Amino acid sequence: MSEAGPLVLVVEDEPQMRRFLRASLTSHGYRFAEAETAAAALALASSQHPDLILMDLGLPDGDGIELTRRLREWTRVPIVVISARGREDDKVTALDAGADDYLTKPFGVNELLARMRVALRHAATAAPDGATKAVLESGGLRVDLVRREVTRDGAAVHLTPIEYKLLVLLAQNVGKVLTHRQILKDVWGPSYANQSHYVRVHMAELRKKVEADPARPRHIVTEQGVGYRFRDE
Ligand code: CA
Repeated sequence: MSEAGPLVLVVEDEPQMRRFLRASLTSHGYRFAEAETAAAALALASSQHPDLILMDLGLPDGDGIELTRRLREWTRVPIVVISARGREDDKVTALDAGADDYLTKPFGVNELLARMRVALRHAATAAPDGATKAVLESGGLRVDLVRREVTRDGAAVHLTPIEYKLLVLLAQNVGKVLTHRQILKDVWGPSYANQSHYVRVHMAELRKKVEADPARPRHIVTEQGVGYRFRDE
């Protein structure tokens, strides 16, 4: 393989493990980037667009599971967890958070390389239209999913956690109609599927903050009797 092999971002705070991975991956034709902290990983993932991420779970400034959730708000890059935590619970949590695979330390380099090939193959055959833009800009509204910053005409918009989740869900589905039921399941959880008034109340609050004229919304439009849709201008 040439120097233009897939770029792998290794998120790992143990220097020895990083050294081992750098040697193993570069000798097999991969390009290598590394982050010791969750914050550095987030910055590198958005600036370098790696083809695959190897993710340790115990990081000095946070947890790889939470980092995986954050990455999944805007990227479908394959994520393979590499962790000493070997309990079934840990694996289920990581996979549910959006990881593609889970490898328990210690592992052999051949197994790691094989799992990476599988993850890269799946990514290559996945539908390309599913990609979310990391920064969405539409008619004065700017939603930065990496930094979790929302501005309207350059001014910061302060959202509650629920309002932000609603906005992210809409931004991940630009142009598509989301039903009340889908929104409830995604933002509140499956047991809330019949609480339509939650959606109406919080959507109204969200509109007050992101729409210039909440009575005539330009961004979050109502599909009468069905749900809501984010309109891209
Ligand atoms: Ca660690």
